[in-house]
Amino acid sequence: MADRAVRVRFAPSPTGPLHIGGVRTALYNYLFAKKHNGTFILRIEDTDQNRFVPGAEEYIANALEWLGISATEGVVTGGPHAPYRQSERKLMYHEFAQRLVDSGNAYYAFDTTEELEAMRKRMEAAKVAAPQYNAISRGSMKNSLTLSEDETKKKLEAGEPYVIRIKIPRNEEVRFHDIIRGWVVVHTSSLDDKVLFKSDGMPTYHLANVVDDYLMNISHVIRGEEWLPSAPLHVLLYRYLGWENVMPQFAHLPLLLRPDGNGKLSKRDGDRLGFPVFPLDWQDPVTGEKSSGYKERGYFPDAVVNLLALLGWHPGNNQELFTKEELIEAFSLEKVNKSGAKFDPDKAKWFNQQYLRKTDNKELAKMFSIIVKEKSTGPLSSDLKYIEGVCHLIKEKAHFVNEFWDIGSFFFIAPDKYDETVIQKRWNPTTKDFFGKLSIELSGDIEFTHQNIEAIFKKTAEDNGVAPGSVMQLFRVLITGMAAGPALFETLELLGKQEVVARIATALEKLK
Ligand code: GLU
Repeated sequence: MADRAVRVRFAPSPTGPLHIGGVRTALYNYLFAKKHNGTFILRIEDTDQNRFVPGAEEYIANALEWLGISATEGVVTGGPHAPYRQSERKLMYHEFAQRLVDSGNAYYAFDTTEELEAMRKRMEAAKVAAPQYNAISRGSMKNSLTLSEDETKKKLEAGEPYVIRIKIPRNEEVRFHDIIRGWVVVHTSSLDDKVLFKSDGMPTYHLANVVDDYLMNISHVIRGEEWLPSAPLHVLLYRYLGWENVMPQFAHLPLLLRPDGNGKLSKRDGDRLGFPVFPLDWQDPVTGEKSSGYKERGYFPDAVVNLLALLGWHPGNNQELFTKEELIEAFSLEKVNKSGAKFDPDKAKWFNQQYLRKTDNKELAKMFSIIVKEKSTGPLSSDLKYIEGVCHLIKEKAHFVNEFWDIGSFFFIAPDKYDETVIQKRWNPTTKDFFGKLSIELSGDIEFTHQNIEAIFKKTAEDNGVAPGSVMQLFRVLITGMAAGPALFETLELLGKQEVVARIATALEKLK
């Protein structure tokens, strides 16, 4: 490994939107490649035409782009091993399947669907725990191991449909090293004779995956735990094809679990608990079913990268916030956990909140102004400087920019109703009188800074025998309509003298 260039690939099948577990796999490949000055490849494994979903490949590429973790070689960018879509490479695979047949490690099988079904039934009747086409059952099936050479040849020449199956040895141990899991030992008696090449002229996932990893000179296979059971078969394929010396190192990532730790994180959990499990919005082209994405929900891409990085990998200290550069620097496969990582929706929001707080007010103003323009048409809705000031005041109260409007709409539109509870408790002839006087004081010839406003507020209260604490919240309600919100005196300063005085006047009139 020492002098082997790092080349890793993310190899999704375009069967629908990319689950965030898949995004995390892509991210770990990306981080590993960057860390080792290697190459990150995007390969599309679309050999199973029945499961092909239009738009899924574009979705995957767009998701990686949005997150800033695009591959530098592959379907989008091209590269020395193009094409990178397996359906376009389909003519390359038969040769290797043939090589396996010729060396006695694979065989032709001519069984029909009905014959396979009959075998399954027979085995079930005989109480075989897991009926499968394997070292034992293949002896009673229609294949080139049971037929004579002549019969096989005739069938092939007659164009009878066939598949090519691997011939799994009956009684061997397959051992391989996984960077995350250590040594993995599997007995071949638990493996079946998987189909490598299908009757439709396409390879299966297993053959295409191994052949492409070899041809593309992949150094490390970093993929989800669900592929661990396939790994022994892949190891045997490397061995039988004579490629064991260049076999990639394996790293099988832990599952992403539901928040309660009970099973794999699914779209249903997301729908139930109100968080996305996909990077971008998606609408199924057949069923029309919609799934929501992190992007449209208002997450920052870097926040998603940060939170996904920590779902399965630990930096070895308590640091939680990482820039992408820091992640690249700190990442290592050795620090990826074996056990599943629980997804915590509140923590996900927390990450976004941290990124929101770090984001410059100018940037936030650009994003928020889009919402403001949709909601109000006043002159302030296109005043970026003013919106920047609003962002400064309300960002601490939000997890997402799209919450800003609910928190701070009063900066653009005067309230049309006032918090009932506070009014009932505090509004009376004395306080009404106080606000009448305060309004006169505030409209005087003063610089309208938050310090001055606060001083005048306090002085007017004292002069009128009113405790400032008893009218402070009421003041907020008269100006914003709400009982709680951002720092009051700063809010008043930003709204400006004219607006504040006008709002007090409106309140005095409306609240009898
Ligand atoms: N095509 C497989 C998938 O959809 C790739 C597994 C692998 O990386 O080997 O995840």
